[in-house]
Amino acid sequence: MGMQGFGHIVLHGIVLRETNYKEADKLLTLLTAEEGRLTVAARGARRKNSRFGAACQILCWSEFTVYRWGELYQISQAETVEEFRALRTDILSFALGCFMAEITEALAMDDASAGVLLRHLLNGLYALSALKKPPELVLPAFLWKLLALSGFEPLAERCGVCGRADIQSPRLEVEEGQVVCAACAAGRTLPLCDASLAALRHILYDDPGALYRFRLAPEPLRRLTAAAERFAETHLERGFQTLDYYHALRS
Ligand SMILES: [Zn+2]
Repeated sequence: MGMQGFGHIVLHGIVLRETNYKEADKLLTLLTAEEGRLTVAARGARRKNSRFGAACQILCWSEFTVYRWGELYQISQAETVEEFRALRTDILSFALGCFMAEITEALAMDDASAGVLLRHLLNGLYALSALKKPPELVLPAFLWKLLALSGFEPLAERCGVCGRADIQSPRLEVEEGQVVCAACAAGRTLPLCDASLAALRHILYDDPGALYRFRLAPEPLRRLTAAAERFAETHLERGFQTLDYYHALRS
């Protein structure tokens, strides 16, 4: 169609958020490989016959051709590369995917970290959809690793107080960001256990390619997840509506 002319650039990005705009338009918050996080306008994307409506849906990884339009980029073409189809037929996985997108948006502030966080998000969504990893396992693994990649890595190799590696009855000191023995603990702590600490160390220190390859019994998994959520809430100083919604669906 000759739209690829002067002033048009091609971006590869995932839709983190879509906001309705005017009668038939959308504003998309994208995390792109080329430009990090940015907002683009998709004119007519809510019309049934829109050429690029499918590629502009939340959690779609798409190729966008855009041009400058006032303050914003405007999409001229969009093609879906990966839509993570299995997420869209399972409401729990979809809700978790939306939380993963929301918290990634909150953390992908600068271009330096955007590429790493983009890869982490795509891998997490792939684990959830194509690999059919259970949401209750993907949540803590994705969240702990995301926090670590964003500069909020807890100290988990040794007790933060006495320094021993075989931490006794481990607990997480949330504000200090460290794991300690129960006897060493002071201040506000959350309980871990040997199994949940082993999983946390796997998530933080082992090969990222094996991130979702572990098993954990329900109770240790619950502790690991509660600790991750509290840690995020405390250090990011905010909650996430999409996470509340995910939990409401599970209860
Ligand atoms: Zn100790």
